[in-house]
Amino acid sequence: MTASLRGCPVCSHTEANDIWNQKYCLDEGSPLPGNTTIASCSACGFVFARSHARASDYRKYYAEATKYESSLNASGSGDTILDQKRIASLVDELTDGVPKDQAILDIGAAKGGVLVEFKRRGYTNLYGIDPSPACVEAIRARGIEACVATLEDSEWDLDPRVCDLIILSHVLEHVYDMRECTKAATKRLSATGKLYIEVPDASQYSVDGFPPFYFFDPEHINHCDLDAIKMLGFHTGLSVIKSHQKYLDVGATSSYPALGVWLGLQKEPADQSPSIRTADKIRTYVHQSSEVSTKMPYNKFLRDLVHHQTPVIIWGAGSHGRRMLANSLLAQANLIGIIDNDAGKQGKTIGNVMVYPDQAGMRMAMEQGATMVVAIALNAATVVDQIRRSAPQLEIIIV
Ligand SMILES: [Zn+2]
Repeated sequence: MTASLRGCPVCSHTEANDIWNQKYCLDEGSPLPGNTTIASCSACGFVFARSHARASDYRKYYAEATKYESSLNASGSGDTILDQKRIASLVDELTDGVPKDQAILDIGAAKGGVLVEFKRRGYTNLYGIDPSPACVEAIRARGIEACVATLEDSEWDLDPRVCDLIILSHVLEHVYDMRECTKAATKRLSATGKLYIEVPDASQYSVDGFPPFYFFDPEHINHCDLDAIKMLGFHTGLSVIKSHQKYLDVGATSSYPALGVWLGLQKEPADQSPSIRTADKIRTYVHQSSEVSTKMPYNKFLRDLVHHQTPVIIWGAGSHGRRMLANSLLAQANLIGIIDNDAGKQGKTIGNVMVYPDQAGMRMAMEQGATMVVAIALNAATVVDQIRRSAPQLEIIIV
């Protein structure tokens, strides 16, 4: 039996209008789909990634994912200076007017960076859940109660009290069924409690300062703006208390657009649903991304690489590299290896090509006279410097 296509994660409607087909080159055996359609729900307009992958495929992926355990490139750990700054600023907002004895639950807590910051400021009723056992161990090691769970589980092995503040920060863009997940979170909300949702802001996706299609990512399967969060609230008995657009410093030339929204339980049922008009903005974003992609100066160099079948090593097995490998001329290049500093990716194969640590990959590049293609979305300069220092003879192309 063929699994049916994913329905709308906000209203459960099964029909949608296709906007764009997005391919990714994933690890061999990845439970995530390498081919998704970005589509808008025919009923409510919500924009989401469709494929035949099921909720269980995403659960499997996150249970096994090592990215959020790693201190190298995980967001939410508080291990990098940028992440510490982001967390401190988020906790500034979340503690505003919130007494120190309030019960606070962080869902998708990663290694507990946000909860640790609450603790540092004197908050004591702190709880975290995360699908990764290693992340939960890390939270407990910092003296905070936590359990392995996802929003899709109905039973959390956690103190069953209700919470005054529940945080869903950069979680909802990842979940298969936003409505059910939000309902699960809301069950733990006290009568006067607040649910804080932070997501990438789909109304502000841009090619300025970001590679084309940067905001389409194998993990980001929901594209929310404020109207979408209002609609989600309409379907889950919540109403928006306040919201603001924010810009996260990701060390790039542009800031990452996000949306922070506080919701509370509806006092009385809302009588009409708001409308979502994100699809037009996403269509414009796709158009801009396509235009920029075809005009990139690196296309000429990639054409030469393909023509001569020069050995190529790609530096970067992140989402940008995976989009480039699936959609650009790199797919036809003579790839002999991929370099990534994330130990969780090393030893895996992506499109039949092995991922190596930097030293081993650079050695191979020098032995075989390979061209280095740096496929890092943000802050590629650090890697370029490293290659120039250790192997100045290598040709470098930045994509
Ligand atoms: Zn819908």
